[in-house]
Amino acid sequence: MNIVTRFAPSPTGNLHIGGARTAIFNYLFARRHGGKFHLRIEDTDIERSRKEYEEEILTSMKWLGMDYDGKAVYQSQRTDIYRKYLNMLLESGNAYYCNCSREELEKERELAISQGKKTLYGRKCRYNPVSAGVLRFKMPEDGETVINDAILGDITIMNREIDDFIIARADGSPTYNFTVVVDDHEMGITHVIRGDDHVNNTPKQLLIYRALGLEPPVFAHVPMILGPDKKKLSKRHGSTAVSQYREAGYLPEALFNYLVRLGWSHGDDEIFSRDDLVNIFDIDHIGNSAAVLSMEKLLWLNAHYIKNMNPKNMALLLLSEKIAPPEIKEKLLSEPSLSFMPMIQERAKMLGDVYSGMRFMLEEDIEINATAVKKHITPEIMPVIDKLAVELEKMEDLADTEKLEAVFKSIIETYGIKMKAIAQAVRVLLTGTDVSPGIFEIISHIDRELLFKRLKGFHDNPIFEKL
Ligand code: GLU
Repeated sequence: MNIVTRFAPSPTGNLHIGGARTAIFNYLFARRHGGKFHLRIEDTDIERSRKEYEEEILTSMKWLGMDYDGKAVYQSQRTDIYRKYLNMLLESGNAYYCNCSREELEKERELAISQGKKTLYGRKCRYNPVSAGVLRFKMPEDGETVINDAILGDITIMNREIDDFIIARADGSPTYNFTVVVDDHEMGITHVIRGDDHVNNTPKQLLIYRALGLEPPVFAHVPMILGPDKKKLSKRHGSTAVSQYREAGYLPEALFNYLVRLGWSHGDDEIFSRDDLVNIFDIDHIGNSAAVLSMEKLLWLNAHYIKNMNPKNMALLLLSEKIAPPEIKEKLLSEPSLSFMPMIQERAKMLGDVYSGMRFMLEEDIEINATAVKKHITPEIMPVIDKLAVELEKMEDLADTEKLEAVFKSIIETYGIKMKAIAQAVRVLLTGTDVSPGIFEIISHIDRELLFKRLKGFHDNPIFEKL
C-alpha cells in the first residue's frame, strides 16, 4: 500500500506544539513507508484565518525540518470541487436544504432542553422539502457507525445521536466535516492521524464517505498533550507555540525528538535522530492515553543536541538565529573560537547559553559581575596579576600550556598564594564572571590583545576602583 498522509492546519493561530506533534507523526509515518506527506491549509473560515498565521505555521514546519510533497493545498481555492460533491449528495438524496430561521431553531432547542431531551434539529425541512438555505446531511435514522481507530480501537456511535449536521452554509460555502472528506479523498489520503479532539467529527465524516460511495482512510486519533498538572495544555502552562520554543533557544532537533517521544515510544530509547525515526517510526506504538509535558526532559534533550552539534554549525546557527551579532561573525568562525566552543557547549542548556559563555572572547566590552569582583579581586591579588601580565607578555605562544603552567607555578610560589585564588581573579578579569572553563583554556584561546587589555587595564576600570 502506498501511504499518503497530510497535515491540515487552520491558519487561525500559531503552530501549537500539539499540532506540530500531529504533523510530525504524519510526516514520519509517510517517510517511514516511502509514502507521501501533504500539507493542506484549511482556510475556509475567512473571519479567523490570517496570512500571518499561515506564514508562521509554514516557517515553524520548515524549522522543524518537515518538508511536504507537492504544493500546499488551499481549501479557499477549491470551491468548485466542493460544489461538485455537494451536488452529488443532493442528487443522491443524502442532503437537503433547510431554511429554518435562527429563532425557530433556538425555540426548538429551548423546548428540548426544558424536556430534558437531546438538542437535535427536528428535521422539519427533511420531511417538508424546501429549495434553498443551508444544506444538511441526511443522517441514517438508525444503526450505528463504528470508527476502527488505529490508536484508540473501535469506537461505536449510535446514528440517532447525531444531528442532520450542516454541510454548506446558506451562501454555499461548505463546512469543515464536508470539506475534509472531499479533500482527503481527492488527495488520496490513506491515513488520517490527528488529535483526538476530532473523534466526535469522525462518524460524520465516515457517513459522508459512505453516502458518496467512497472508501474512508484509516483514522488514528492521538491523545492530547497535558500540562504538568495533568490538565489540557494551554497558554497557562507556558509556551505553546513552536516559534516560542525557537525564540527561547531550543534546537529544532531537540523539540522534534521531544515531541515524537511525547505519546510514542520505542522501548526505553529517548534519543532519536531523524534517520533513526524514519527507519523505525510506526503508529502502532503511539500510546492511547494522554501524554504529560515535561520541560525537564525537553531541556535535557536540548542540552544533548547542543553538546553534540559541530561547532561550525553551531556558530552559523547562532548567527542565523540572531543570537550572535553579525559584526562578530568572523571572530566567531575563527579557529580559536571554534576550538573553544565545545567546552561551552558541554554545559549549555539553551542556545543563548552558548553565546553568553563565549561572549567574553568575541566582544570588546563585557559586563563584569560586581559580586565576583568583590569576592576575587582582593588587594592582595592585584600585584600578583600585574606580575602575571608581565610574565605572560614574555610568552610568544600563549597556547603552550606547559609553559603557562610553569609561569603560574612560579608566581604561586613567589607570592605564597593558592592557584584557586589567582585562577578566580584571572577568570573574573577575562570573562567578567567566576564560572568558565579552565583558566589555561581561556588564556590560550582569547585574543592576545584582549587578554592584556583586560589583565592590565583593570586598574583604570571604575568598577575596580573602589577596591
Ligand atoms: N483543520 C483542522 C484543525 O486544525 C484539522 C482537521 C483534521 O486534521 O482533519 O484542527
